[in-house]
Amino acid sequence: MAEEQSFSAAVKAELALPGPELPCCQRMELAGLVRAIGRIELHGGGRVALTLSTDSGPVARKAIRLLRTVSQVEYKLVVMRRRKLRKNLVYRVFIPPQPGIRELLRMAGFVTPEGELTEWAEPPELANDHCCRAYLRGTFLGTGWVAAPEKQHHLELSTSATEAADALGQMLFRYGIAARMVARRDVLVLYVKEAEQIVRFLGVIGAHQALLRYEQVRVLKEMKNRVNRQVNAELANVAKQADAAARQVEAIERLKAAGVLDSLSAPLRELAALRLAYPDASLKELGELCRPPVSKSGAAHRMRQLMALSDALL
Ligand SMILES: [Zn+2]
Repeated sequence: MAEEQSFSAAVKAELALPGPELPCCQRMELAGLVRAIGRIELHGGGRVALTLSTDSGPVARKAIRLLRTVSQVEYKLVVMRRRKLRKNLVYRVFIPPQPGIRELLRMAGFVTPEGELTEWAEPPELANDHCCRAYLRGTFLGTGWVAAPEKQHHLELSTSATEAADALGQMLFRYGIAARMVARRDVLVLYVKEAEQIVRFLGVIGAHQALLRYEQVRVLKEMKNRVNRQVNAELANVAKQADAAARQVEAIERLKAAGVLDSLSAPLRELAALRLAYPDASLKELGELCRPPVSKSGAAHRMRQLMALSDALL
């Protein structure tokens, strides 16, 4: 399927591989993921359930592996096929109300330290650089998307609440990534369109293979653009020269037709004859053919005189 082969899917597959991570970072990666793809359901008596949904198999596997590693909560996995659109699979990890769920929600910034549900309560772990990277990795796995570098430069993350989006923007800013924000239906999207910043983000979240591929494509693309620019400039220059030479030939033919040419000084006659004999040569080359040879500016000076004389005939 196209989705499996996209650059974005490849980045997620790379990130979903088990890596050597600190326990704190595993928790914060899960936190980012829970925040990104978790939906809270309120049950009676202040009890809450949580459902994580994703259409990526690698992301679902990572979510489950992290849940089993860092949390003791009971969960149930359901896999369904969407009835509309691309009819792709949707993985749902349902976590019913239970004591361990509060800690999961706290880590993800969904509840205050006092246990109240809120839009965003920054988990203190995010003050650590390693944990912040892990949180961003979890966020990208959940809601991130990056275009293939061959096509365009675009990377985005999304979240539902303004405060969470602001916090995400600040986390990115810590790594020198200035994301812009736009509201799209019911989500807030943070996006980056500069290749250099996208590469930086891939480095921050530890997608090293993807980063290398991105850089490779970018360098090749820039090289191709540079060569194209040089070729275009060269062609434009040659075309300009050809136009000028054609106008010179025309002017000299006019002098000849008017019988003026033979009355001109020897140097002008010589250059005029050379131009007619070599319509494609540059002025520099014509100058070299003169006897004695003259410089490019010398030849240009003579040519200007010929042109002025011819213009006078019009
Ligand atoms: Zn950590």
